[in-house]
Amino acid sequence: MAEKTAFIGVGNMGGPMAANLAEAGYDVVVFDLSTKACDDAKARGLAVASSVATAVEGARIIITMLPAGRHVTAVWGELAGLAEDGALLVDCSTIDVASAREAHALVEGRGRLTLDAPVSGGTGGAEAGTLTFMVGGSKSAFAVGGPVLEAMGKKVVHCGDPGAGQAAKICNNMILGISMIGVAEAFVLAEKLGLSHQALYDVASTSSGQCWSLTTYCPVPGPVPTSPANKGYTPGFSAELMLKDLTLAQDAALSSGAATPLGAEARQLYKLFDQLGEGGRDFSGIINFLRGADHSGPAD
Ligand code: NAD
Repeated sequence: MAEKTAFIGVGNMGGPMAANLAEAGYDVVVFDLSTKACDDAKARGLAVASSVATAVEGARIIITMLPAGRHVTAVWGELAGLAEDGALLVDCSTIDVASAREAHALVEGRGRLTLDAPVSGGTGGAEAGTLTFMVGGSKSAFAVGGPVLEAMGKKVVHCGDPGAGQAAKICNNMILGISMIGVAEAFVLAEKLGLSHQALYDVASTSSGQCWSLTTYCPVPGPVPTSPANKGYTPGFSAELMLKDLTLAQDAALSSGAATPLGAEARQLYKLFDQLGEGGRDFSGIINFLRGADHSGPAD
């Protein structure tokens, strides 16, 4: 193996992902604009380059994990002139479908292979190497890139052509945002009706209301001891990242003409929650916003 691999953007997600690649035997060199991210990467034993150009020199694999679409198109624009012929380029950031397709186009030709491969699983999954990758790109790019992604995750799904990975990611997270609000509303209603959290959980978790937001990520403390509600809504997956993904979903719905009224409402609710200064909380903390400004309801 020991293929030279450049990893650009080693923040909360990219840092542990790059470390897992190195652990799997890849010869990893990282670059980040942030001194702190570079220091953290060094502490993980990773080699740190002083620029994108030096990081990608001689690299057969280039991975980016950046905040948003504008960062990805800027870096991939730079990579257009820097990446080797025949190199594999993979963007794992969560970005809009249009920017993802633009990134593929920016570097195309010269035998290069490109994938958009956003992830699900959060920082815990990045550390543990248990991420799910949703991948868009050609079959030949997926054949080469799939094993690389497997070194950082537990499930890798080829969703289709360029942009399909990002499309799958925002559709999934729109379900998640809507379902979390639905579950939270049911608990708030149960409180008003004098029904205990545990009783609602015992019924709904084995009935037609069953879903991931209830049984893995229950927004009230108690029924699922590992959910963020038991730790003061420390993320997990922050409300501001949920707002980002719901906004990407609404942008895509508008540009493609899809009717997503609940997705629009979910985005609006997370926007209000964020504007109250709660964006850093886990997204399941939206239940406190739904209870009202006084956060009334049983302490449990
Ligand atoms: P982060 O802000 O911790 O890391 C992003 C890093 O990119 C930063 O260190 C930043 O300095 C660096 N960067 C920005 N522009 C750069 C450039 N031009 N060159 C080099 N480095 C540059 O963010 P994160 O939490 O690691 O998230 C990264 C991506 O993963 C985002 O798109 C996010 O939506 C997605 N994501 C995050 C999570 C999560 O739980 N944190 C889960 C799933 C997906």
